[in-house]
Amino acid sequence: MKALYPGSFDPPHLGHVDLIRRAAAQVDHLVVGVAFNQDKQPLLSADQRVALLTALGRELGNITAIAYHGATVAFAKAQGCTVLIRGLRNAADLDAESGMAQINRANGLETLFLVADAAHQHLSSRLVKQVASAGLALDALVPPAVLAVLAPIAARNRPEA
Ligand code: ADP
Repeated sequence: MKALYPGSFDPPHLGHVDLIRRAAAQVDHLVVGVAFNQDKQPLLSADQRVALLTALGRELGNITAIAYHGATVAFAKAQGCTVLIRGLRNAADLDAESGMAQINRANGLETLFLVADAAHQHLSSRLVKQVASAGLALDALVPPAVLAVLAPIAARNRPEA
């Protein structure tokens, strides 16, 4: 089975890493799809996100990270993926995901949901960005490679001691 795990990953955090590990253990190959969002100015470029996710997935051996435009279902089919992987942190995620899962299923693509690990349930890219812009410690939120990229941003915003 080849699956697509799509998202913004701006930036990738430990909740994403956990999901990638768990999904990769269930499938033959996992494509991590970095979606372009025209409406939002990203913190990290798509190339940076792809490079970070590629490095994070390297030790697993069955991960490819690729950026894509347009409909996720079209990208999944172009990649030969037969299922989508999405994470659920809480009931709000389920509400937000249900409609798109129905549409994707109507277009021939089933979604498999993995429940977020309790240790990572509070994590979101938005929270990571807020913590970085407050200049607070990020090491409990993101893997070391992402920390290295975000460190200059966090340092710029660090409150004087
Ligand atoms: P999107 O903008 O598509 O929701 P995100 O990068 O925020 O992209 O999330 C990508 C996927 O990862 C989504 O399925 C989301 O539910 C899941 N996810 C986000 N945070 C976590 C977390 N802390 N634990 C598990 N899954 C998560």
